Amino acid sequence: MGAIKNARHPFYDHCDEALDRIRHEGRYRNFTPLARHAERFPVYGEERPDMPDGRDVVVWSTNDYLGMGVVPEVQEAAIAAVRDHGAGAGGTRNIAGTSPLHNELEAEMASLHGKEAGLLFVSGYVSNQASLQTILTSMPGWICFSDRLNHASMIAGIKGARASQTVIFEHNDLEDLERKLAAAPADAPKLIAFESVYSMDGDMSDIGAICALARKYGALTYLDEVHAVGLYGAEGGGVSQRDGVADQVDIIEGTLAKGFGVHGGYITAAAGIIDFLRSTASGFIFTTALPPCVVGAALQSVRMVRAENWRREALFERVNTFRQRLRAAGVPFTMTPSHIVPIPVGDAECCKRISRRLLNEFGQYATPINYPTVPEGTERLRLTPGPFHTDEMMDDMVRALATLLRAEGLMPEQRTGQAA
Ligand code: PMP
Repeated sequence: MGAIKNARHPFYDHCDEALDRIRHEGRYRNFTPLARHAERFPVYGEERPDMPDGRDVVVWSTNDYLGMGVVPEVQEAAIAAVRDHGAGAGGTRNIAGTSPLHNELEAEMASLHGKEAGLLFVSGYVSNQASLQTILTSMPGWICFSDRLNHASMIAGIKGARASQTVIFEHNDLEDLERKLAAAPADAPKLIAFESVYSMDGDMSDIGAICALARKYGALTYLDEVHAVGLYGAEGGGVSQRDGVADQVDIIEGTLAKGFGVHGGYITAAAGIIDFLRSTASGFIFTTALPPCVVGAALQSVRMVRAENWRREALFERVNTFRQRLRAAGVPFTMTPSHIVPIPVGDAECCKRISRRLLNEFGQYATPINYPTVPEGTERLRLTPGPFHTDEMMDDMVRALATLLRAEGLMPEQRTGQAA
């Protein structure tokens, strides 16, 4: 009764049609297979069907901003933890998956941000999604004020709290935020969710000013420092540490996968908030804990990054040198207050073409950033030079960019010529 035998489920056709549309819109995702060789970072090995041994490629799009993932002491910590504890965690945090390393790393992250407690998640994505969804379903009437450019993981958590109300404020617009806070019922529980460094534009929020508004209107603050931890502040505690305002933020979230070069996400906050989320956040409770080798490596990395300011200085010296060389060669880039160097292109196909030619003709890898990651018309290459990029690598990249942008009519002298 009601059975249709041998029928192809409509979802198969749905997938084919959706993929055709994605291809047609130039949004189909191809992943370039690049093998990271720890001892040669940021030179990667590219797998190529036409070359049995592949070839070397200099990578400009890594989020391992400080190269901590290839630091021998960090690698050794991972290896030691595998030897001591095995390859996996063996359970959720509640079911035999909590090693002493997990507890140590949580204490380390809390201390980095000057908070009472910390909580690890399997990724930065999950830390945002699980924490925000759980907080915003905890009491009736929550209103979440969310920056328009917040990361997908925060949006997933905010949307997942279906009974709460969301008010989006314009990106980094304090007046808009205040207007919207003032218009909300005074007695509703409020939360402001925002980031310190916005990774696609490389701009920063004014954390102190947002916290002042939060105090004025009685809102909780939730700050994503994913692209800032390890890089900013005397010990790498992020922009909130650099600006001396970490104590004003209620919940600081970060990743162990970017500035710390390993893997995993975390939040830090007052002990009561952490304890509450530990006991109620589904994305924390019902998943296998991070493997001890990942936790051991992250712990080693965080300790080194905290103690060794020279790594941050080296990063910013390299970023500044790269910008000077781009400027000297007349290559357009967006000046940002962060370590992120966007090269504006403004067209998805052109952006992909430049990226492809950089790789194929010059052995330089820079990911094209297209819609829906950024709005249409603002497509760009997003470069993240780091301590391991040499002067020679920079010269090669600047020359390659100048050649390809000129071929596309995107050098400033060509644009001026067109306008005149
Ligand atoms: N927040 C922001 C702002 C991010 O850009 C990302 C990932 N790129 C995440 C959170 C998720 O972090 P993770 O990669 O550790 O999952």
